[in-house]
Amino acid sequence: MRDLRRRDPDQKYYDPEIETMPRAELEELQLGKLQDELKFAYEHSPYYKRAWDAAGVKPEDIKTLKDLERIPFTNKQTERDCQGVGSFFGELCCVPEEEVVYMATSSGSTGVPTMSPFTQDDFDDFQHAQSRLFWQTGMRRNDRYLHGMNFALYVGGPDVIGAQELGALGIWVGAVPSARLLWAMKQYQPTFMWSSPSYAWLLGQKAIEQGYDPKKDFGSFKTFIISGEPGGSISTTRKAIEDLWGVSVYDFFGLSDIYGACAGMCEYKDGLHIIEDQILVEVVDPNTGEVLPEGEKGELTYTTLSKRARPTIRFRSGDIGWIDKTPCKCGRTHTRIHVSGRKDEMFIVSAVNVFPSDIEHVVRNEKGLTGEYRIRVYDKNYTTKYEVSVERAFGSDEPYDQIAKRVEGALKTHTGVRPAKVIVYDTGKLGVSAEHKAKRFIDERKHNN
Ligand SMILES: [Zn+2]
Repeated sequence: MRDLRRRDPDQKYYDPEIETMPRAELEELQLGKLQDELKFAYEHSPYYKRAWDAAGVKPEDIKTLKDLERIPFTNKQTERDCQGVGSFFGELCCVPEEEVVYMATSSGSTGVPTMSPFTQDDFDDFQHAQSRLFWQTGMRRNDRYLHGMNFALYVGGPDVIGAQELGALGIWVGAVPSARLLWAMKQYQPTFMWSSPSYAWLLGQKAIEQGYDPKKDFGSFKTFIISGEPGGSISTTRKAIEDLWGVSVYDFFGLSDIYGACAGMCEYKDGLHIIEDQILVEVVDPNTGEVLPEGEKGELTYTTLSKRARPTIRFRSGDIGWIDKTPCKCGRTHTRIHVSGRKDEMFIVSAVNVFPSDIEHVVRNEKGLTGEYRIRVYDKNYTTKYEVSVERAFGSDEPYDQIAKRVEGALKTHTGVRPAKVIVYDTGKLGVSAEHKAKRFIDERKHNN
């Protein structure tokens, strides 16, 4: 591990050979690893053996990447059902508990939290992947990295070790109250920080309230990494945070089931490169499960290629997005994913699919607003409607009805469907600002789409 820190800081790629590998070669590497992973899972997990036997498919039937379509899906429910069955980690776990050195859990926001176990090798692969993604954002040995992510059972917690692996200084702050975090920022002059987009925004507001100018008083910052909410992929949200702090913002994407970050932006910020030598991504029709061609929107589905404690095979993430395998201007050949939002937060108005991220894009783009918002989706006379609440910016005297009309028009233009209503509040009156994770989506539909 130690000599990894001797990489030349001018070197563009962390793992040049892997990151720029021609696609044909990369897919060959994936196939070999996939075949190993499937064989290992079949031989060591009672669940996988049973499920694949029932589907009439064996690991040796998988001769091409396309053959993976024959293997049954898994999802959160599979993990929940298998957890604790027969052993502590349950029927998806492929190693004895004594080989497990770390576990994360899911947030439990949609039911019982699931445990995600790692062997030491899994954990090392995980941190190596994080180092590579950090390097991709420009982090180097002389950087000070403030880790503003939760440490409590959360898979993003250990990522600070990935920053240290590449030689940066890890500042283990975690998800602490904003006053404490602002103090650490002032005291230690970090150059990088990772937090949720809402928190990055809220911290800036708090700093202003305390009389600071974030750009000037926290001028040591060069880069923010954000994840955990769709905001990082919304260009107007990124820009709002960039303007507030005077930094460059990169979006990362992770899953408690796999790694803290499975994909991250490069300097071109057109999608997130997935670490394809370790994770294979498919896009499937959310209703039929049919694999969709590259570029079509569907449910992002992941398969790990080297995880041993709990191989994740064809895991349906519940995220809707699309993939792009065309060469990126940065020279990396790994597929880029674009995430639109959660499947269960998508709503259909007049036959148009709308995601909360579409609304956020508009709210962050309109002048004279604080950028905070709340969406309420409900049924009326058997049709789905949506209502958006926004806040008028501090110091603005634009009449409420004029703001409402302007936002309504922008929403109609961007999403294709007009909201039933736009409600305007004064600065800070909406009450959605929460530290670390904001609640902005209220779903009152009788039946989810
Ligand atoms: Zn790129």
